[in-house]
Amino acid sequence: MFDFLTEEIPNQEIELPALAQRNIRLSVKREDRIHPYISGNKYRKLKYNLLEARKLGKDHLLSFGGAYSNHIAAVAAAGKEEGFRTTGVIRGEELEGKIEENPTLSYAASCGMKFKFISRTAYRDKTSDKFLQALRAETDDFFLIPEGGTNELAVKGCEEILTEKDAQFNYICSSIGTGGTIAGLINCSKLSQQVLGFPALKGSFLQEDIRKFASKDNWKLIDSYHFGGYAKVNTDLVQFMNDFKTATGILLDPVYTGKMMYGILDLVKEGYFKEGSRILAIHTGGIQGIPGMNSQLVKRGLPIIEI
Ligand SMILES: *Cc1c(COP(=O)(O)O)cnc(C)c1O
Repeated sequence: MFDFLTEEIPNQEIELPALAQRNIRLSVKREDRIHPYISGNKYRKLKYNLLEARKLGKDHLLSFGGAYSNHIAAVAAAGKEEGFRTTGVIRGEELEGKIEENPTLSYAASCGMKFKFISRTAYRDKTSDKFLQALRAETDDFFLIPEGGTNELAVKGCEEILTEKDAQFNYICSSIGTGGTIAGLINCSKLSQQVLGFPALKGSFLQEDIRKFASKDNWKLIDSYHFGGYAKVNTDLVQFMNDFKTATGILLDPVYTGKMMYGILDLVKEGYFKEGSRILAIHTGGIQGIPGMNSQLVKRGLPIIEI
C-alpha cells in the first residue's frame, strides 16, 4: 500500500531574524513532499482506510468534498495508485459541467473519479441513512470515507507523523480542519510536549471533536488566525506566504498551513514562546489547492500566491 513513501520525512529548520532574536528554533516537517496530490495529512488519513477497504474486499471508494477539496484530490489519486474506483460527492450543483474550469475537479476526473454534484441543502444531509441508502442503490457497495477523511483509522495514520527524534521539540503545531490530524499528533506526542492547533475555520465544535479521538490533554487551540473563516484569504496572508517562500523556499497553502505559519510567527513576535523553545510545525500539504485559489484572487484583483 502506498509504496511511494520510502524515506523518512525530513524536518527543515527555518532561519528568520524574528526567530534568532528570541533564540527560538523552528522546524517544518515536510509532509507536503509525500506526494503532489496525496499529500501531507491526507496520505496519513487514507492509509489505514484503504487497507481496511481492501480487507473488506471493496474496490470502490466514495467520499465528499467541496470544489477545491484537498481530500477529494487525494482520494482520486490514491484510488488510481491503489486500484480502486472512486466517486466524489461534491457540494454545489452549479459545478456540474464546469469541471474543466476547476483544477481540483479536473485533476480528480483525470484520475478516473466519477462525480455526483448535489445542492448545498442536500450536502448538509449527506450522512443521513436515507441519503446513503439512495447512493448505494444508485451505484454499488462502496467503502465510505467521511468528509475530510476523519475517522478512527485516519487518526491511527496520523499517529505515524511524529518519530522518536521529534521528542526534542517543546511544541508541535498543526493546522486544523476536522481535527483528525491533531488528534493523531496528540496521541503520538510526549506528555512533556504541547500540541498547538490552528483552526482554519470559525466555530467551537472542534474541542469536542478532538476530544473524541485524543488520548491526552497536552493541547490547545489558537483561535485567532482563521482570517475570517474557511478558505477566506486576504492580501496580508498572501503577502506573508510569498515572503515566507522567498525566505525559506517553502511553499505554503492558503487554506491551512499558510494561516498556521502566520500564526506561529506572530506568536513568536508577541513573545508567546519562552526563549530557547523548539517548535515543530507540520506542513500538512494542500499545495494542489493553490491554482484554484489563485484564479479566485485574480477575479478579485488581488495579488496571487507565487508558486
Ligand atoms: C485537510 C487538511 C488539514 C486539516 O486536517 P484535519 O485532520 O481535517 O484537521 C490541514 N492541512 C491541510 C493541508 C489539509 O489538506
